[in-house]
Amino acid sequence: MLYADLHIHTKYSHGNNTPAEMYAKACSLGLRLVGFTEHSPRPKGFDYTHEYRDALTAMLPTYVREVCALRDNPQKGANQEICQVLFGMEMDWLEDEEDFARASAKAFDFDYLLGSVHFIGHWGFDDGVDPWLTASQEQCETWYEDYFTAWEAMICSGLYAIAAHPDLIKIFSVDQFHIWLQKPQAQAQVGHALDCLRKQGMAMEISSAGLRKRCHEIYPCEAIMAMAASREIPITFASDAHGVNDIAYGFDILERYAARFGYREHCAFQHGKTRTFPFGE
Ligand SMILES: [Zn+2]
Ligand SMILES: [Zn+2]
Repeated sequence: MLYADLHIHTKYSHGNNTPAEMYAKACSLGLRLVGFTEHSPRPKGFDYTHEYRDALTAMLPTYVREVCALRDNPQKGANQEICQVLFGMEMDWLEDEEDFARASAKAFDFDYLLGSVHFIGHWGFDDGVDPWLTASQEQCETWYEDYFTAWEAMICSGLYAIAAHPDLIKIFSVDQFHIWLQKPQAQAQVGHALDCLRKQGMAMEISSAGLRKRCHEIYPCEAIMAMAASREIPITFASDAHGVNDIAYGFDILERYAARFGYREHCAFQHGKTRTFPFGE
């Protein structure tokens, strides 16, 4: 059993539950560490079909207040262990918006930030399946290259503690993605980004969200896991829950998955300090 879920959302973006409801569920599951990582509002021009920017921006102070109140008053969970709260955010890496990201990263006294790429240029590539349904292998491969170029820039920015859902770009085209990833130039590109990740002292997220999406695969895939393990890159575990029912989703599967690549411990970030836990804690 893993006891730390470091990537969860609330109703203040496009989730279903309040921080208190998410925390109560985490306690009832016996988690010892839960990291709130609501989306950080994106600048205008980076939009989803169901955009939540205005509501999220308005509720951001509420999110911060409620999460910090939970952090400062931790409760005992089902197993009589304290469930600690970490205060984080999930922050997009957006083309030509580095200043915006740097300002957002300093807006609050976070425990840690998740670095995520959801946009290629101004296109939210995980917004819907339609553009992917008619895309050729060649077109998909251009998008994969663009994605990992942005992913590496996100890593090199030094703003983030954890690289979230590393191969999110496979969400709607998993077969094409694996064809691409077998190519030497693709492995070189991903490998270079992972070298940067290691150098930055970041961790890589192992996320069960992909199991609930069209790709039906853990983020990241086996090939990237092997590349990360050979570089001894630290890992974190995440559900990317947007509701109480997804907290710690599939964590038994994630633990066995990571163990297959030789991993025996995972980590968390608290106010700039790294904490490491053996599996089973
Ligand atoms: Zn995300
Ligand atoms: Zn997320």
